[in-house]
Amino acid sequence: MERRRAKLSKSEQMARVRSKNTDSELALRRAVWKEGLRYRLHTRLPGTPDIAFPGARVAVFVDGCFWHGCPEHYTRPVRNAEFWRAKLKRNQARDKRVDRELDVAGWLVVRIWEHELRDDLNACVRRVRRAVSRRRGQRSRNQPFQT
Ligand SMILES: [Zn+2]
Repeated sequence: MERRRAKLSKSEQMARVRSKNTDSELALRRAVWKEGLRYRLHTRLPGTPDIAFPGARVAVFVDGCFWHGCPEHYTRPVRNAEFWRAKLKRNQARDKRVDRELDVAGWLVVRIWEHELRDDLNACVRRVRRAVSRRRGQRSRNQPFQT
């Protein structure tokens, strides 16, 4: 028996697009892990970073081009324009708040657009690695006697 699928509006379709655990996020995690960088996934940090390095205090977010309003790829939906405009505004305000909260707590925030992962995954991995090693260097300089 085949159930007829109800037709979804464009905005309903987009609302169904999951904003977490996308293929590109998973690709970044795999690549970062292969680099020998050991991260944590489920942290109780503001904004729930996609990847977190508690030792180095680096939090990495992968921002979807649509959900976070990428300047290169965000397209305004025509239907329910007001709803989507308000939603984007809320998302961007939340991103800023999360960045501030993490900064205050001593975390370095790395934000990567989803399209950057698609375009050049290795460059994104290098950015993460640089951030982590920079922070590790700072911490060991600041706390020379800690092992
Ligand atoms: Zn983009």
